[in-house]
Amino acid sequence: KAHMARGLPKQKPITGVKEVIVVASGKGGVGKSTTAGNLSFCKSVGLLDADVYGPSVPKLMNLKGNPELTENNLMRPLMNFGIPCMSMGFLIEDTVPIVWRGLMVMSAIEKLLRQVDWGFLDYLVIDMPPGTGDIQLSIIQNVPIAGAVIVSTPQDIALVDARRGAEMFRKVKVPVLGLVQNMSVFQCPQCHHQTHIFGSDGAKELAHTLGVEVLGDIPLHLNIRETSDTGQPVVVSSPNSPEAKAYRRVASAV
Ligand code: ADP
Repeated sequence: KAHMARGLPKQKPITGVKEVIVVASGKGGVGKSTTAGNLSFCKSVGLLDADVYGPSVPKLMNLKGNPELTENNLMRPLMNFGIPCMSMGFLIEDTVPIVWRGLMVMSAIEKLLRQVDWGFLDYLVIDMPPGTGDIQLSIIQNVPIAGAVIVSTPQDIALVDARRGAEMFRKVKVPVLGLVQNMSVFQCPQCHHQTHIFGSDGAKELAHTLGVEVLGDIPLHLNIRETSDTGQPVVVSSPNSPEAKAYRRVASAV
């Protein structure tokens, strides 16, 4: 386990970045990228999409194209809404399947972590790949991380993996800042009846078990899905909506 501890010789800060916050999840599809994207506005930060197999940031932030190179041969992040972003999606075509062996994934991650000119940032939010494998560990081992935000839906199948995620960060001594419970409640736009499609309090109970905070509760809402798909994250496109407020509450708790 010693090689998993913090302060490894390999671990060095990202140039120009003061603090790194990672947004992680045990499973895919629970709203990790959407949370990372919306958080990045609330905190005026940079956004690094480390989900090399399923990059979401190009769509979420309505960005595409190849990054320019600086004179030092570093990649310049693409910008939208004032947020500098970097993603594997800027480096390969959408239609190209990513069938990479471990080593290729590691070198892609290394490139995303080390060969980007972020300028000066107080925070960099990293949208992590889902799960608790080699890629996640190598990111954690390469960069000092101020804290991890874990996103989960309230259903058991997601929570089991969210717990694994939290335990992984703990093991490597990255502070778990808390859990975000996503898609907990759906309110019918017609009759306003509320339904807890995935359960109501699962993430809250897990947070209690782990002794970490619940950073917020994001409803399952058409506005969140639509604004994410059109590259206009809800905190920018509907800043006064209850959904945007829910993300802002998370950001202020981080
Ligand atoms: P992950 O990063 O965990 O794989 P995403 O953030 O990409 O998940 O979200 C998966 C899908 O669910 C996306 O289409 C996204 O727009 C949608 N989504 C995420 N959170 C919500 C929510 N609270 N309400 C409605 N749709 C959501």
